[in-house]
Amino acid sequence: MKSLWNDNDANQYKSHLEQRVYSSRLLGTDPSLVLHGGGNTSVKITETNLLGEKEEILYVKGSGWDLGSIEAPGFTPIRMAHLLKLAKLESLSDTQMVNEMKTHQTLASAPTGSVEAILHAALPFKYVDHTHADAVVTITNTADGEARIRELYGDEMVIIPYVMPGFDLARMVAELFAQQATEKTIGMILMNHGIFSFGGSAKIAYEHMIALVDRAEEYLKKRNAWELPKPSEATQAPVAIHEIAELRSRLSAAAGTPVVLTADRSQEAMQFCHREDISSISQRAPPPPITLSVPNACRCWGVM
Ligand code: ZN
Repeated sequence: MKSLWNDNDANQYKSHLEQRVYSSRLLGTDPSLVLHGGGNTSVKITETNLLGEKEEILYVKGSGWDLGSIEAPGFTPIRMAHLLKLAKLESLSDTQMVNEMKTHQTLASAPTGSVEAILHAALPFKYVDHTHADAVVTITNTADGEARIRELYGDEMVIIPYVMPGFDLARMVAELFAQQATEKTIGMILMNHGIFSFGGSAKIAYEHMIALVDRAEEYLKKRNAWELPKPSEATQAPVAIHEIAELRSRLSAAAGTPVVLTADRSQEAMQFCHREDISSISQRAPPPPITLSVPNACRCWGVM
């Protein structure tokens, strides 16, 4: 994985929030880091309110925005002091959490902040980046994932066991990060979920993310877990149009609504489809939500 940071481009983005926009888009346009709507980022900025008081504000990705095309209004400004107090509560329902975030925004028209806002607030760094990087999740989701993650990152990462995103996860991170973080810490792994990086500038947080994910990719390559065997030429015959029409008809009937079908015959898709265990692995979570496999026909179609 290569960094896409470009100083000339980045310099066009002057403020802290604009820098946040620039690097969020770099992360959001790489589907191996986040799929549409996934991942989230934040920046902590000290501002002066109408009363002349200084307060620290968390600008966190708002719901409904995509990192790849996010703009400054896509970040929700929420008072840090309140978020940090919330992180110390014993419990908080999703409804209460959303209500607390909405009522402590400093801009009423801003979108609802990410469900991971309290978690972002609890990490004591100016810029915080979070992705669901394929390579990292591939490692965490193996049976001995935690041991592999520790082998890969040593003591540079804080490791958090799996908890459903929401208040319980934020609370656990607030506690465990403070206990485990050292001067060497440059990131955090959420088992079976994703990775966080952070830093004092947008560039440092982004470059850390890329370097950490690159290490995960290299780890997989060295263990022969990166490339799939190439499908033989005999299996690459053109897709018969009438087969697609037939499949589309059946899918539409099953879905109860007309669906549009398109064939994905990229090398990666074909390699995946021709695995001998495709019937089994294609049915396991987390399934790519837009992919449907048809093992008997030895073809894969992506439903758009
Ligand atoms: Zn996440």
